[in-house]
Amino acid sequence: SLFNRNMADPRAERTFLAVKPDGVQRGLVGEIISRFEKRGYKLGSRQIRLVVEPVKILIFFLQPSKDLLHNHYAELSSKPFFPGLIEYMSSGPVFAMVWEGTDVVSVGRKMLGATNPRESPIGTIRGDFAIDVGRNICHGSDSVGTAEREIALWFTPDEVVSYGLAQKKWIYE
Ligand code: UDP
Repeated sequence: SLFNRNMADPRAERTFLAVKPDGVQRGLVGEIISRFEKRGYKLGSRQIRLVVEPVKILIFFLQPSKDLLHNHYAELSSKPFFPGLIEYMSSGPVFAMVWEGTDVVSVGRKMLGATNPRESPIGTIRGDFAIDVGRNICHGSDSVGTAEREIALWFTPDEVVSYGLAQKKWIYE
């Protein structure tokens, strides 16, 4: 088979990225995936069950439960914007992904831009497509440790696929 789980680079860094409900509704899933693909990063997540109808539907995104979101954003639970953040994040499906590659956590954060889109440089995802902080269309882990915690929270190990990227030697020296 051309697909081999064991071809993954064990040293590759991973991050958790998500297109938030507003990004999904605004049709920006493809744009966000495309930027990470073109940069040379590797998508590591496969289909995940849609949590609201777990029996039949296999789809790439899920409607996160409030429990999941409370856990995901636990560090922010005392902030005044926390209740609004949970409402926003649970308002529709979220497109959850794992991306792999050298320094993907820090480079990924730069590609997303600043938390407040109006302070985010043009050329970043938030700087190009968003205006308000509470509608900033995407999430990216802020450290390697957070990334591993978030991947374990949103995915079972079985849902994260490892494979070799054919173009790897053209991207990495
Ligand atoms: N947020 C908000 N108001 C704020 C700060 C943050 O609504 O004043 C939301 C925003 O959607 C942000 C999320 O809470 O993306 C998590 O905040 P964090 O500081 O972790 O920013 P991020 O890591 O997402 O850039």
